[in-house]
Parts: sequence; structure tokens; C-alpha cells
Amino acid sequence: MIRLSNIKLDLDHSPEELTQAILTMLNISADELVETVVFRRGIDARTKNRIFLLYTLDVTTSKDAFLLEQFSDNQSVKPTPDMSYKFVAKAPEDLGERPVVVGFGPCGIFAGLVLAQMGYKPIILERGKEVRERTKDTFGFWRSKKLNTESNVQFGEGGAGTFSDGKLWTQIKDKKHYGRKVLNEFVEAGAPEEILYVSKPHIGTFKLVSMVEKMRAKIIELGGEIRFSARVDDLHIENGQLLGLTLADGSEIKSKHIAMAIGHSARDTFQMIHDKGVYVEAKPFSVGFRIEHNQSVIDKALFGQFAGHPILGAADYKLVHHCKSGRSVYSFCMCPGGTVVAATSEEHAVVTNGMSQYSRNERNANSAIVVGIDPSDYPGHPLAGIDLQRQLEKAAYLLGGENYDAPAQLVGDFMKGTSSAQLGGVDPSYKPGIRLTDMTSLLPQYCVEAIREAIPAFNKKIRGFAMEDATLTGVETRTSSPISIKRGDDYQSINTKGFYPSGEGAGYAGGIMSSAIDGIKVAEAMALSINEQAK
Ligand code: FAD
Repeated sequence: MIRLSNIKLDLDHSPEELTQAILTMLNISADELVETVVFRRGIDARTKNRIFLLYTLDVTTSKDAFLLEQFSDNQSVKPTPDMSYKFVAKAPEDLGERPVVVGFGPCGIFAGLVLAQMGYKPIILERGKEVRERTKDTFGFWRSKKLNTESNVQFGEGGAGTFSDGKLWTQIKDKKHYGRKVLNEFVEAGAPEEILYVSKPHIGTFKLVSMVEKMRAKIIELGGEIRFSARVDDLHIENGQLLGLTLADGSEIKSKHIAMAIGHSARDTFQMIHDKGVYVEAKPFSVGFRIEHNQSVIDKALFGQFAGHPILGAADYKLVHHCKSGRSVYSFCMCPGGTVVAATSEEHAVVTNGMSQYSRNERNANSAIVVGIDPSDYPGHPLAGIDLQRQLEKAAYLLGGENYDAPAQLVGDFMKGTSSAQLGGVDPSYKPGIRLTDMTSLLPQYCVEAIREAIPAFNKKIRGFAMEDATLTGVETRTSSPISIKRGDDYQSINTKGFYPSGEGAGYAGGIMSSAIDGIKVAEAMALSINEQAK
């Protein structure tokens, strides 16, 4: 098979034009082209009045070898690489202690799945509830303001990204094509096939819920075991070796191979890990607000006359501004046609985040506008970033009226530094509700100044971004983990053998894809170590 890249066609091209582009590129006749598979379809919207589709294709011809030789100097004509996933190990007959995975978010799901596929029968422990029960609790909180601190947007089967936009792209290097394994498993679990080829795939909340259930069933079928409402509260460590753990109900599990894939919000577990002497460092993260515009404003600014075109869907954006102060402000977790959600896992705190459905057809576009901060902003203790997050979330709770409503402000008022009293043309979508106020007291002054500098700069890239009626809600604090649990090349903690820091919470991933990929890598490392010890 031959991989052809950089094939650029008009947005409304016909199937025949795509075929003709292949024939022209390879200088072959129609009867020599056997099969065409779209590997990737991207959008080039740099010139908004002439938007192109950019293709990478895998084609089979009647003379592949000859053509590969003939075009050997052409970077756009290469043999299709083998991207299939190959298991690195197989469980020994007498497995003995089973590996344990703590957390059933994207990282834990893939660590558990790959261990199960290799025959290691993992035990998976998740503090939250199974996804249907969790959905009731989470949507219940949004409706009636009753928070379940163990079952919410952050905690429960599927992890933090279950009620999300389900964006599935990552910028991490992936030489071994782990990302392909993740996408293939998602499709097998019911994700739309297009995630395999569109350049910015997304799934949306409701599809994610049923996919998570199917992946759970697959793990169990392969001999794995998943326990819900099973919070890990203690670790048994002797002489720098992890030997097992204790659950909140007092039960114990022995294992010398435990992946901790606990996400960025398990603050009590972070504290416990630190107290047990596992090496932990403070890490940079970002804080800010969520901004909402009418999706039509963003579509028009980015797609011009093509706004609303079915192939393009709702427009997304990614923005960065480097401030005079040296701080960076950037958009994060942009959700086209989505809603802003209450994302706290702790009582008396307000945290914003975003989600959408597969259709992305809600009226607003939202994204977090956040400022990068680092341990010099919260010095003194490895867990000091958590204290800062808590402080900001509590301040948002108080400013929102102490009932889980989010404080909100119009962008125009935020720029002027005046309190908002009335909404304009953008209705904030945050549930349970909002309270109009002045949000400038919510963040450190340097963050407020940085965001004030960034919004007009973003307006130069997206006309209308700084519209006075756009709304801000906040605070956005759970952007990534405030700590890093350091690991070595063997994927084990640098001072605690058998402890595998994994995924976003440990500082090794950010987002669904990279967390899932990290889960595969951790599973491989655990399997190889188990086999080594079994020798
Ligand atoms: P998590 O998904 O956080 O999973 C950790 C799991 O561990 C949780 O289920 C938790 O309950 C469990 N746990 C914690 N402590 C314990 C314990 N002591 N014992 C047992 N279990 C424990 N990313 C994207 O790429 N695209 C998006 O569109 C996107 N949208 C998002 C929208 C929202 C609302 C949120 C909150 C996040 C979003 N993200 C998105 C980020 C993404 O969800 C995370 O990057 C990803 O889920 C991290 O995966 P993880 O497995 O490392 O951790």
C-alpha cells in the first residue's frame, strides 16, 4: 500500500476529483488504482474565503512496488507504515499476584485493557460509581446543587473526560502509533469510524458513556476485575518497595505492581501519597476563566462564507498570547457548540470546565482562557499548588453566592473593571446558574492583567472575540495536575518500586488521548517487570 500526503482539494470537491488527484499524482490510469482509504482529512482554513480539504490517503495500485521506486525522492509518496499494535509480553502461566490499576479514567482504562489483553487479569479500583449511576449524580448536581464528592465530573467510571467534548487529538510524539491503538479500541467500543481519519476527532458526552461501558465489559471478559466505590486510602511500602494497598472499606490487596492513574483532582490521595514518602514535586499549571461567545460569531470569523458548512461543523480555535510580563495566556479545552459545566469534586468550591455532544449544536462556543503559573507562584511545599487551587475555588464559591452558582461577568465590564449587572447577547450556559458580579478579585492580579492584555490580542485573530457581551465564568483551576509524581525509565516511582505514577494526575499526560497512551505504556512496563520477576 502507498501513503499519499498533501493532496489539497476544494471543500466541495466531488469523489471523482479525489480519484483524479491520485491518478495525476501517481501518473497512473484509472484501471491501475485498486483501492483508496482515507487515512486523514484535515481542513486548511488559513484563507477563510477559500477553504481546502487536505488529504492523506492509503492507496493500493496494481504496481505499488514500481511506483514506490519511481517516486522514491517524493516525500508525499511513501510506503504505508505498519501501525498495528503489538503486545510486548504475555502473562506467565502461574501469574501469582495480579497487577492493580487505581483509577478508571482514560489512563486506567487503557492500562487495564492492555494488561487484560496480555493475560494479566488486572484488578481495577475506582473510587467513583459505574458510569450510569455517576451520570445521574453529575447531572443531578447540575440540576439540584447536591454534590456527591465521590461521584461527579472528576470521579467515577470513565474519569474526568467522560462528560466532555471528547476531543481526541494530542500533540505528543507517538513513534510507536499507540494513538492508533486507542482510536481503534474506541471505534470497537462504538465511537464513530470518522475518528480514525478526521484530523480533529471528537466524540461528545453521550457516546463516551456507552463506550466506557463496552470497554469495561471487554476487560471483564478477558479476566480483569473492576471494583467501583473502591477508594484507595493507604499504601503498604517497606524499604522503598510497594507491597499493597488498603481501600476505604478497610480491605487490603497485595500487589507489587500498582499503577496509580488517579487524575488531577484526587487531592486526598495526593496528600496520602506524599505522606507515605513517595517522591512528589510541585508542577506548573494554569488558572483563569471560561469565556463564552455565540458559536455563530466564531464560525463567521473563522470560516467566513463557509460558516455552517456540514463538513466544517462548528469552528474551534486555539489561541496563545505571550504577555509583556513574560506570562503566557492561552485557550484551553475549547468546546464548540457546547456548554460550561460545574466541575468541582469538593464541597463549597466552584470550578468551571466545558463539554459538548457529538453534534456540537448548542448555541455557544466556550473555552478556558488561562494563564500559566509555576511553583515560584506557590512556593514552599510540593502540594502548595493544591492549596492555591482550593483558595481560588472557594473564592469563586463565595462570589457566586455560596450555592454552587458561578460568578460571571461580561467581557466588556471585565476589561473596564466594573461589575456586571445585566446580560447582553450571550447567555452563559453554566449549570446550575450564574451570578453577575466583578470577577477581578478572583485571580491573582498578575493573571487578571495578563488576561486583559490577551483578549484584545485574541480579537486580532478572531474578530469578535473581545465582544463586550461575551461572558466569563470561573474559576478554571483544574487544567492539569498541580503535582508531578516522578518516575524513572522503568515507569516506576523514583523512590518507590512497584508504584507506577500514571496519566494526567502524575504529570505524564494532559487530555484523553495522551492519558490513554500513557496507560498503554505503563501496562507494558508493568507486564515486562512481572515477567522479569517471574523468571
Ligand atoms: P482521570 O480521567 O481524572 O481519571 C482518574 C480516575 O481515578 C477518576 O475516575 C477517579 O475517580 C479515580 N481515582 C482518583 N483517586 C482514586 C483513589 N484514591 N482510589 C480509586 N480511584 C481513584 N480532554 C480531552 O482530551 N478532550 C476533551 O474534550 C476534554 N474535555 C474535558 C472536559 C471536562 C469537563 C473535564 C473535567 C476534563 C476534560 N478533558 C478533556 C481532560 C481529560 O478528561 C483528562 O485529561 C483525562 O481524563 C485524564 O485521564 P486520567 O485517566 O489520567 O485521569
